[in-house]
Parts: sequence; structure tokens; C-alpha cells
Amino acid sequence: MPEQPTVLVVEDEPAQREVLSYNLEAEGFRVSRAENGEEALMLVDEAAPDIIVLDWMLPNVSGIEVCRQLKMRAETRGVPIIMLSARSEEVDRVRGLETGADDYVVKPYSVIELMARVRAQLRRTRPSTVGERLEFEDILLDSETHRVTRDGNVLKLGPTEFRLLTTFMEKPGRVWSREQLLDRVWGRDIYVDTRTVDVHIGRLRKALCQHGGGDPLRTVRGAGYALG
Ligand code: CA
Repeated sequence: MPEQPTVLVVEDEPAQREVLSYNLEAEGFRVSRAENGEEALMLVDEAAPDIIVLDWMLPNVSGIEVCRQLKMRAETRGVPIIMLSARSEEVDRVRGLETGADDYVVKPYSVIELMARVRAQLRRTRPSTVGERLEFEDILLDSETHRVTRDGNVLKLGPTEFRLLTTFMEKPGRVWSREQLLDRVWGRDIYVDTRTVDVHIGRLRKALCQHGGGDPLRTVRGAGYALG
């Protein structure tokens, strides 16, 4: 089982919000719901989801404004946004406004089509959540079966080390701070000391070298860790 992706559904119509959330949950997503733009921005501030499905017509702060604000901020810019809109003319306007939305779907939409678009976005930004295989040099990670090999040898990894490695392999070269790793691997609700990260990084390094090969992880002084 791949890691459960998180999605934020922003829709003011209760019935539409529930149908959409229900379908996403049935597809294995962890869903949070917002009924207006303010609530959406607040929820993203608390914990950025893997993807946002955002209705264009919302009271007060419109979907476009929410999109614009999230795409302006460095911490949330990378979260893909699929905009829902009632008419195709609106989609043209959305495109024209260059809000930075990653994709657009016109209502009424088919659930199958929306799911395909959601998956397409995740394949790009969080490939492990849609069961993609990750590859970095001689390391292969299968998020479906949780099997990791290096140069053909199967590596034994604990669940935390597996999640750490997945995070690194999704973005080779990116430097992750201890806090960012805590958020991604342990989740924000759990209190874990940042030193715990160092302990598990140590275990991951050992596991990666259990059949030989150099240490692919880099310690970046004062910043955190990176793969490659
Ligand atoms: Ca609406």
C-alpha cells in the first residue's frame, strides 16, 4: 500500500463537497474539507495537503484569490491546485487570469476524469502516493510493495526509514530541514524531538550501506539533509 495522499476539498455547496470528499476517500485519500476561502487558507497554513481541489465560486474570498495567495507563497507554491468551475467560459477566464492553477475541470465533471487529473498531478509532485516506483542512482523504491533494493540487493528498512527514504527520493538534491522532515514523515500532530530525526537518519544511512556502496545522504551544515 502506498502512502495515503492528503487532499483539501474547498467547496461551499455542502452536497457537492460531500460527494467529492466521499469519492476521494473511496480512492484512498485522506480528505480535509473547507467551506470557504478563509477556512481553506487557514487549513493549508496548519498543514499543507498533497493536493487541493478548489471551487472557483466561493463566498467572500473566491477560489481564484485563494489560488493566487497560495501560489505566491514559497511554502505552498508547490502544492498542485485543480480548479473547479461551473462553465467553460469561466475556465477560459481562469486561464486568462493566470492564477497559477495547475489544472481546471468544468462542472458537471465525471468523477473518473477528476480522479485521473488528481493522479496526474500527484504523479508529478508526490509519485510515491500513487504507487510509482522511485529511482535514484542504484537505489530502487517500490511504494506499492515497500521493497527497496540497492544495486539489486534487497535492503532491510524500518517503517520510519522507509518513509524518510521515500521523501528524499521524491526530490533528489532537495535539502530538507529537520522540521520539514518531522512534518512529512512523522506528521505535525505528533510531538517528536528534532534529534529523533538524526537518529533515524543514522539508521537509514546504515541500512542504505548494508550491502556496500557509498553513503548517498548528505548532511548540510545548519540546514538539514539531502539525497545526492
Ligand atoms: Ca461554489
